[in-house]
Amino acid sequence: MSVDVFPAPHSVLSPQSSVLIGVLALQGAFIEHRQMLARLGVESREVRQRKHLDGIDGLIIPGGESTTIGKLLDTLEMTEAVRGLGRDGLPIWGTCAGMILLANDVGRPQTILGLLDIVVRRNAFGSQLDSFETDLAIPALGDAPFRAVFIRAPLIERLGPGVVQLATLEDGTIVAAERDNLLATSFHPELTGDPRFHEYFLRKIGGGTLVAVAAPSGSGVA
Ligand code: GLN
Repeated sequence: MSVDVFPAPHSVLSPQSSVLIGVLALQGAFIEHRQMLARLGVESREVRQRKHLDGIDGLIIPGGESTTIGKLLDTLEMTEAVRGLGRDGLPIWGTCAGMILLANDVGRPQTILGLLDIVVRRNAFGSQLDSFETDLAIPALGDAPFRAVFIRAPLIERLGPGVVQLATLEDGTIVAAERDNLLATSFHPELTGDPRFHEYFLRKIGGGTLVAVAAPSGSGVA
């Protein structure tokens, strides 16, 4: 275990597990994801080159600027490798710009992975609402509302067949969805200290190493 990883009292992983999560670290909010994983006692690795994808059990594509991340994926010849892993069933979670990259339609030309059948509209909230926070009811995470931070966020305009919505704003706008190994959120769960979305993602990782116990809310992870 590397020095920047420490076990949390309510780790979702059994002690003998050796799950390694890759966090795409080309641009954007990757450090915050790694900090959250460390709080959960989960080892992570910054993915900056194609070889860093070897041996990971899941991948997080962080928020940032989707055009920049896409261009860097192309330049570094990683786009096809990430796409292939997603198609082969590797759990991949995209937050904000990461969600844009997972989508298969963003209404404009830019590099996307096209893994999740959703239509996404970038920078969907008007200038006054460029950034905002709100409490979301997310049944998959339990009863307690989830504080969600939206930063020049995209929204999901359409879900393809088999894609399940996980969260909406009060007006019905879809802001989180999943299908099988893929998870997408318009907002930034790595910024608020609530580990439930990270735990939810970790449960997508098989191999019998996961203990399906959610952290109790207010469990000291803040
Ligand atoms: N507006 C950015 C984009 O379109 C996403 C913002 C974010 O990731 N916080 O890529």
